[in-house]
Amino acid sequence: MMKSIILIVLDGLGDRPGSDLQNRTPLQAAFRPNLNWLASHGINGIMHPISPGIRCGSDTSHMSLLGYDPKVYYPGRGPFEALGLGMDIRPGDLAFRANFATNRDGVIVDRRAGRENKGNEELADAISLDMGEYSFRVKSGVEHRAALVVSGPDLSDMIGDSDPHREGLPPEKIRPTDPSGDRTAEVMNAYLEEARRILSDHRVNKERVKNGRLPGNELLVRSAGKVPAIPSFTEKNRMKGACVVGSPWLKGLCRLLRMDVFDVPGATGTVGSNYRGKIEKAVDLTSSHDFVLVNIKATDVAGHDGNYPLKRDVIEDIDRAMEPLKSIGDHAVICVTGDHSTPCSFKDHSGDPVPIVFYTDGVMNDGVHLFDELSSASGSLRITSYNVMDILMQLAGRSDKFGS
Ligand code: ZN
Ligand code: ZN
Repeated sequence: MMKSIILIVLDGLGDRPGSDLQNRTPLQAAFRPNLNWLASHGINGIMHPISPGIRCGSDTSHMSLLGYDPKVYYPGRGPFEALGLGMDIRPGDLAFRANFATNRDGVIVDRRAGRENKGNEELADAISLDMGEYSFRVKSGVEHRAALVVSGPDLSDMIGDSDPHREGLPPEKIRPTDPSGDRTAEVMNAYLEEARRILSDHRVNKERVKNGRLPGNELLVRSAGKVPAIPSFTEKNRMKGACVVGSPWLKGLCRLLRMDVFDVPGATGTVGSNYRGKIEKAVDLTSSHDFVLVNIKATDVAGHDGNYPLKRDVIEDIDRAMEPLKSIGDHAVICVTGDHSTPCSFKDHSGDPVPIVFYTDGVMNDGVHLFDELSSASGSLRITSYNVMDILMQLAGRSDKFGS
C-alpha cells in the first residue's frame, strides 16, 4: 500500500546552546512530548540543508527539500521578491526587485523616496501596463520596495540594473551583459522611460511635492531573474502535492510548482499562528493528496530576534499541536525537520545541520528517544536536504527499484 507523506518544516529550527537556557538549545529546553514520541518511534538523524556548512536561505532549502536542485532551478532574487508580494510568475517571465526612488533633474537624490509607502499601490498600478508584446506588472511591498514582473517573448536576464546603488548619480541605462540581453535591455529602457513620465505626472507625487515630501517618481530595478522552465511537482515527484504554509513567497513557490495551496484561518506566518489548525489541515489532506508540505515560520522569527525563551515557547506550542500525528502512521509517513538553523546567538541563518525524524508504522527505531540537535545526531541518518524526498518516497512505498 502506498502511503501519503507529510513533511513538516519548522523554519530555522536548529540552534546552539544559550546561557539564557542553562546552556541548552531552545529545542532541548522545550517540553516536547510529541516530538520525543516521534523520535522514540522513528528514524532519526541530522540533515544538512543543501550541503554541510552551507548557510542557505529558506528559498533554496525548500526547493531542495521538494526535490528541485536550486543550482538548476533557482530563479533568482527578483522572482522570489515577486512571489513574496503574492504576484503570479510563469516560466519565461523576467522579474526584478524594485524601489520607488526620487529623481530630481535626472539625478537620484533618494534611492528610497523617503521610505514612503502611502500611495505606492496607486503608483504601482499606474505603471502596470502593456507595451507592444510585453506586459509589465508592478506591485508595492513594504516602505519604498516593490517588484516588477515582465512577460513577453524572448526575455533575457543577461542585463544590468537601472539602480545606480548610490545617491547623486543618474539612473543607469539598462545594459546587456551579454548579446542575448540586447533586445530585453531596449524593451526595459523604453518601459522605464514611460514609467518615469507617468510617475512624474501622477497625482500622488504632485501631492507629496506640495507637502514638502519626496516623490516616488523613479522606479529603480535590480536583480533581474528569469523564471526557468520548471517541471511541476507532479511531473518531478509523481505525486499530487499540497501545501499549508504562511509565507507569501512559499505559497508563490508552491503555486509555481502547481501544488495546491491551502489557507488555514488564523495561520499568520509568524509567532502565535494557528499551529494546530495547520497540522490538522495537513492530516485531512492526506486523504486527497499524496504529499503535504507544512511550513511553520515562528521558530525562525524567534531565532532572528535572538530570543531563546520565545523560541523554546514556540516549540512547546508547536509540539502540543503535533498530537494528531501519532495516530496516522498506518496511512502516512511523517517527517519533521528544519530548513536551516537560525541560532538565537547568531540572529541569522547558520550552516549548522538540523535534527530530522521520519516516522510511520512499522519502521525500526534507531535507539533515539529525544528530538533535538544532540540526541538526533546519535541516530542512524546523516543526510542532506537532497536525500529527504528519496527517503520519504521509499518509506511511503512509492519509489522505483534502482536496477532489477
Ligand atoms: Zn527558513
Ligand atoms: Zn530566516
